[in-house]
Amino acid sequence: MLIEKDIVILGGGIAGLWLLNRLRNAGYAAVLLERAALGTGQSIASQGMIHGGMKYALSGALTGAAQSIANMPQHWQACLQGKGDVDLRGTNLLSDAYYMLPRQSVRSRLNAFFGSKAVRGKIDAVETEDLPAFFKGHLNGPLYRLHDIVLDVPSLLTTLANTAKNHIYQINWDNTRINHSADGTVQSIALPNGIELRAQRFISTCGEGTEALLQILRPAKVAMQIRPLQMVVVKHKLPHSLHVHCVSDQLTATPELTVTTHPCKDGAKAWYLGGELAESGASLGKDAQVQRSKSKLAELFPWCDFSTASWHSFYINRAEAKQADGKRPDNVSVHSVGNVLYCWPTKLTLAPNMANTVLDALKAQAVLPLQLSDAPLPGLEFPGIAVSPWDAMTDETQGGSSA
Ligand SMILES: Cc1cc2nc3c(=O)[nH]c(=O)nc-3n(C[C@H](O)[C@H](O)[C@H](O)COP(=O)(O)OP(=O)(O)OC[C@H]3O[C@@H](n4cnc5c(N)ncnc54)[C@H](O)[C@@H]3O)c2cc1C
Repeated sequence: MLIEKDIVILGGGIAGLWLLNRLRNAGYAAVLLERAALGTGQSIASQGMIHGGMKYALSGALTGAAQSIANMPQHWQACLQGKGDVDLRGTNLLSDAYYMLPRQSVRSRLNAFFGSKAVRGKIDAVETEDLPAFFKGHLNGPLYRLHDIVLDVPSLLTTLANTAKNHIYQINWDNTRINHSADGTVQSIALPNGIELRAQRFISTCGEGTEALLQILRPAKVAMQIRPLQMVVVKHKLPHSLHVHCVSDQLTATPELTVTTHPCKDGAKAWYLGGELAESGASLGKDAQVQRSKSKLAELFPWCDFSTASWHSFYINRAEAKQADGKRPDNVSVHSVGNVLYCWPTKLTLAPNMANTVLDALKAQAVLPLQLSDAPLPGLEFPGIAVSPWDAMTDETQGGSSA
C-alpha cells in the first residue's frame, strides 16, 4: 500500500517533536517515526535548562553563541503560557530562576562584567536577605540570579507528544528499509505490512542516530560530531531544590559544575550534576567520577550532609553538526541535501530556532502542504516516553549509598 505524506520526520527527541508540532500547525501532513522511546538519548538526559546564553558570556564577552540564544527564555515562557508557536501548557516548570555562584578569585571580574551594559537586565546580584534558603548563612560572597528557567523534560516531551499522538509511530529498523538512490535522495520508507511511505521531504532529527543515516545515504558535505559526558545523579532526601552554575577560577563558557534538581517517582530528589565535571569525567571510570563528584560537592557546599545519598553516573554523548574545531556549534544546524534535511538543534533551548530554520527552508524550496490525507498509518504503535536518568537509576544500577 502506498501512503503519501508531506513530511516524514525520523527521530523523536525535542527536535523532532517540536518540529512535528510546528509542521502540523502549519498544515503539513507530517508524521514522526521513532526507533525507541521518545527522547531516548540526549533530550531525556538533558538538564532542562532553557537559558539565555549568559553562561557562554562567562569569558567576559558576548559571543556568537550567547547572542543566538539570548531571547530563548522569553520564547519558551510564551509557549508555556499557551501564547507561543507551540503549546506547552502542561509542562512542569522546575524553577523560574537559575543561579550563578562564582569562586572567590573571579568575583571582581564577574562583578564588572555583570554590571556592564551588555548584560544588563539579564542577570542580577542577589541581596543577602533574598538568598535562597539553601545558601542562607553559608555565603559570604555574591550570588547571581539569571533570568533562565528549568523545565521538567519528561513532562515537556509528553506535552509535545500528546498534541500529535496519532502521528507518532514506533518503527523497528529490522523490518523497515529506506529506498534511496545513489545521490542520497529518499524514494520511500518501506514499513512492515507492505506500507510504502512517500513524502515531499524526509527530515532527520535522530541526534547521535543520524550517523547511521549518513552511512546509508552518504550526503555530500554533511557530517556530525559527538562530545562525550559522564553525568552524575545524586539521590537524597535534602529539602533543597538547587539550580546553579558554579563558576571556577578559569572563566570559560563551561561552569565547573552545573546542578539541577529533579523530583523522582520514588519520592526522592535527584541533584543532577553536569558542566565541566561531566565533560572531564567522560574519560574516567564510574567509581572515579562518583568520587570526584563527592569531593566537589563537599568542597562547594560543605554544610550539606550526603551520608544517606545514593550516587550514580552514566555516559552520554552530545550530537551536533561537525565543526572544524570540534567545539560546540554557535547555533542550530540544518543541512538540506536532495529531499532530505539533516537537523541538529545543538541545545534543547534552541529547538524553536531549529524548527523556524526548517520551515524557512521548506518555504524557500516551495515545499507547501498538499492537502494530503492525514489518516493514521495502520499497524504501528505510539512509542511512549523515555525514562529519565534519575528514575532509571536505582541502588542496583551503580554507586550505592555514600560512605
Ligand atoms: C547530559 C546532557 C545535558 C544537557 N542539558 C541541556 C540543557 O540543560 N539545556 C539545553 O538547552 N540543552 C541541553 N543539552 C543538549 C540537548 O539535550 C540536545 O541538544 C537536544 O536534546 C538534542 O535533541 P535531538 O532531538 O536532536 O536529539 P535526541 O534527544 O538525541 O533525540 C534523537 C531521537 O532520535 C531517535 N533516533 C535515533 N536514530 C533513529 C533512527 N535511525 N530512526 C528513528 N529514530 C531514531 C532516538 O531514539 C531519539 O529519540 C544537554 C545534553 C546532554 C547530553
